Amino acid sequence: MTTSTTPALRLDARFARELPELALDWQAEEAPEPRLLLLNEPLAAELGLDADWLRSPDGVRLLVGNALPEGAHPVAQGYAGHQFGGYSPRLGDGRALLLGELRDVHGRERDLHLKGSGRTPFSRGGDGRAVLAPMLREYLVSEAMHALGVRSTRALAVVATGRSVPREGTALPGAVLARVASSHLRVGSFQYARALEATDQADGLLERLTHHALERHHPHAAGAEPPALALFEAVRDAQADLVASWMHLGFVHGVMNTDNVTISGETIDYGPCAFLDAHDPAAVFSSIDTGGRYAYGNQPAVMGWDLARFAEALLPLLADDPDEAVRVATASLEGFAESYAAAYTARLRPRLGLRPADQGGPADEVVEPLAEGVLALQREARVDHTGFWRDLAEEADGRGTPARDRVLDLAAYDAWATRWQALDPDPALMRATNPVYVPRNHLVEEALEAATAGDLAPLERLHAVLQRPYDVQPGAERYAEPAPDSFGDYTTFCGT
Ligand code: AMP
Ligand code: MG
Repeated sequence: MTTSTTPALRLDARFARELPELALDWQAEEAPEPRLLLLNEPLAAELGLDADWLRSPDGVRLLVGNALPEGAHPVAQGYAGHQFGGYSPRLGDGRALLLGELRDVHGRERDLHLKGSGRTPFSRGGDGRAVLAPMLREYLVSEAMHALGVRSTRALAVVATGRSVPREGTALPGAVLARVASSHLRVGSFQYARALEATDQADGLLERLTHHALERHHPHAAGAEPPALALFEAVRDAQADLVASWMHLGFVHGVMNTDNVTISGETIDYGPCAFLDAHDPAAVFSSIDTGGRYAYGNQPAVMGWDLARFAEALLPLLADDPDEAVRVATASLEGFAESYAAAYTARLRPRLGLRPADQGGPADEVVEPLAEGVLALQREARVDHTGFWRDLAEEADGRGTPARDRVLDLAAYDAWATRWQALDPDPALMRATNPVYVPRNHLVEEALEAATAGDLAPLERLHAVLQRPYDVQPGAERYAEPAPDSFGDYTTFCGT
């Protein structure tokens, strides 16, 4: 490891300084032959980083953690987590590092983080490495989510390390993803802090972590009493809104373990995620989710479960009396259902072409049954989740009946459409909130297959289309189509 000269880049070490119990000093392993494959120039500009410099040998070495600006203090972060319901007391960054924080051009604090940077004290049996296809996948899908308007971690770059990594009897090209997030704090960070504190290894850690998180992510809630309750409710509402945005897009996260639920409310961890083709609440894509715990339709309930674990971790800060703390936590957790319903309906209105109630739109009591009605029709006909909503916009515009043509029960559809059309839906609002393009599973796989064989062009083309997901792009018709039948059932894999 050497230091390099990049006058623009200063990395702070706020996390390591304020929460040393959660930060182990660590260095990335040397990449034998780093080669930059993807660089997110708009994001680099937002971070105040010079793209030409990032493309230079020193820049690429920064992007794999092998050449750091002076004063940088990379750490592996400790966290715990409930994985598929079972508790792991010590997960942590087993193949990742926080290089440090920087201020973007808007003055916002952002983490610069690496995934695939080698073993750490948290690696357990793992090799600390990442292989190319999943890192490209995270780059593609996280940037698509951002373009869709969903809060998400961002992808700055993918660098091939030049090392081959053994996986399931073969050797695959290794890669490092440089990721940017408003922070990497998660519910699992609080579970870990609570456990450390209980063993007297970390005096006041949970309280420090709470203040750190409030200040960084929910400053509007800072100052409320007790602070842990203010934080809990801010995270509850941010996650309610996030899951509502996933549900509308047909996004299936696939691994909603408590270590993958952020305190910021950003989507994190794109391992086994997928998008619905057919609308189906039971849709599961992850190879290891055999019980359907993280099925599409379960996501709101599972988020409620994860937030209950968050509340549990915060109990000592909610009230001095343990019974009172449980009462406070339970009452606050009950607010999740309402928060989710409000977020869901608020995001639903424009998708149906309807304005908020206080801007002349219909009451929630009108909108909610309307949504249930159309979703029931979609489920029954297993219609294409993304295409159907765009077809509804066409109908709102008086351009034929493409949505009606997809359903099975025409009488039910007509009754529904009469009620909906009577509300005078605005097709422009619908087109601005119902995407034409999402990272459809078959397109992602096709792009990754080509990239693994050395051709990045299909991935770059798909990425370009996904940067403007709400605009019909001439020549991009095939990116709006559902998977061909020959694609079959889609299966995804965690962090391979
Ligand atoms: P994830 O499935 O990415 O949320 O990771 C769950 C846990 O497994 C985290 O603690 C990761 O750091 C760890 N992990 C995943 N892959 C590896 C690997 N190749 N080497 C070491 N640790 C890993
Ligand atoms: Mg994770």
